[in-house]
Amino acid sequence: MNVVDTLKHLFEAHGEDAYFGEAVSQIEHALQSAALAEQSGSAQPLIVAALLHDVGHLLHGLGENIATKGIDGRHEEVGEEWLRAHFPSAVTEPVRLHVSAKRYLCATDPNYASTLSPASQQSLLLQGGKMTPQEVAGFEANPFWEDAVRLRYWDDTAKVIDLEVPPLQHYLPAIEACVKRASVAPE
Ligand code: FE
Repeated sequence: MNVVDTLKHLFEAHGEDAYFGEAVSQIEHALQSAALAEQSGSAQPLIVAALLHDVGHLLHGLGENIATKGIDGRHEEVGEEWLRAHFPSAVTEPVRLHVSAKRYLCATDPNYASTLSPASQQSLLLQGGKMTPQEVAGFEANPFWEDAVRLRYWDDTAKVIDLEVPPLQHYLPAIEACVKRASVAPE
């Protein structure tokens, strides 16, 4: 099965799973994130990153309410490791960094932490809390840190009940295009 079919299968099999502690499902959250990225005029790899940023949740099968059970599923690393075989770093790095971006914004934006949902505030503690100044500097040294911060804001916003957004099918050409680029110039 190629990567596009695998992704379709993953969303079909697990997309209706709850998005931990939130009112929307995994597929609703993914599609809303991608729609926000597209509306912002982002490049294709970042739209694909927004769509797939939580694919680690679909892959690792640890079930619902990981944070409330006190386990950090490291879904950003699970997702990035799997995506790396198929996509360039313009897709995989924002995915890998989207949890760090939360810790980054908690350290650099005084109003940010209060905007997080209760579930996201709870998982923040498991993820290490806000960044230290050294961690902030290290984060800003990554060429994709600003994309990761953009993705983070969309991630935090993409939780609207019954929002009308384009379906998964709308993004398949973008996914395909990013896969092809990766296979032409492997990293
Ligand atoms: Fe998310």
